Amino acid sequence: MGKDYYRILEVSPGATDEEIKKAYRRLALKYHPDRNPGDKKAEEMFKEINEAYEVLGDPEKRRRYDRYGTADNMGSFFDFGFQGNFESVFNDLFNDFFGTQTRRQKSKKGDDLRYNLEIEFEEAVFSTEKEIEIPKEEQCPACNGSKVEPGFQPIVCRVCGGKGQVRYTHGFFTINRTCEYCGGEGYIIKDPCKTCKGRGFIKTKKKIKVKIPPGVETGMRLKVRGEGAYGRGDTHPGDLYIVLNVKEHPVFEREGDDIIVRVNVSFPTMCLGGEIDVPTIEGTTKLYIPPGTQPGKVIKIKGLGVQKHNGYGRGDQHVYLNLVVPTNLTENQKRLIEELSKEFGEHKEAKEKSFKDRFKDIFTCLVGFFF
Ligand SMILES: [Zn+2]
Ligand SMILES: [Zn+2]
Repeated sequence: MGKDYYRILEVSPGATDEEIKKAYRRLALKYHPDRNPGDKKAEEMFKEINEAYEVLGDPEKRRRYDRYGTADNMGSFFDFGFQGNFESVFNDLFNDFFGTQTRRQKSKKGDDLRYNLEIEFEEAVFSTEKEIEIPKEEQCPACNGSKVEPGFQPIVCRVCGGKGQVRYTHGFFTINRTCEYCGGEGYIIKDPCKTCKGRGFIKTKKKIKVKIPPGVETGMRLKVRGEGAYGRGDTHPGDLYIVLNVKEHPVFEREGDDIIVRVNVSFPTMCLGGEIDVPTIEGTTKLYIPPGTQPGKVIKIKGLGVQKHNGYGRGDQHVYLNLVVPTNLTENQKRLIEELSKEFGEHKEAKEKSFKDRFKDIFTCLVGFFF
């Protein structure tokens, strides 16, 4: 069963967010490794406090924990660049009380991962849910991330005495350097965990469901908190960034929140007006073409664009009218257009000559040349 995070943070299950935050600050200070060098019990407590606060300090995770009694399998949620309260409180805490420690703590956070996801044009317009498989590093279940084979203990580093740092004095200067013997860990593992080969984490794959909100575009990033690489030491894992690539559509184009469609209109319809079928993202619709419409005219269909992802409402559809000049005319069509041309008072000269006519021309020319 899951741990009792409320008991770990010494608060009641009905505690307010503020009370939880305060309790976490107080306990994190009390058990911080820098204040308790070499104290394994304090280190363990510090880990537990952080684990508890990572869940209880996040309203969404806390709700799930309250309901299911576990913080596992959180699923995913989205925030466009939103920084969760855990990280900000954590940074506050170390800025307030440990000054330069912040950077060291931060650098140990798990790496952020990037995942390129290709989606269909329509999925970008209407939102979708995708299941993706991501490479995952998880805390080793055999050693619980301690890197030590169960039943064995790490040995406190005899060079730095468990501090992870060695102090050198040169005249006026005192320099603290990372202990090379233990690599700054403060302890030496003689019996590394066999399951994870002493790394503290294992590589797996994890399927997560990703909700794509409506109105996304190529290049947009969705942040899934805590689904990045496993965090070393006491810190939390990195984040997963899903970078979207929206596939091109054979009919529709995007211009911000508007959808562009180019349709061919016949010469008679442009002249006389009429109704044409136009594809839209929600199916075919009828569009009225007024008489005397010029090629290149754009007709706007309100509200048939893309849903705005940063607000309410939708863009429009812009229909570009392209005039089609007919080819392969029948004899009757040709005759009618010639008549129309005459009616317009145009003198039609460039009548296409037949092969026979052209041959005759060449022959006449040759005869003229030789004789
Ligand atoms: Zn292990
Ligand atoms: Zn050492």
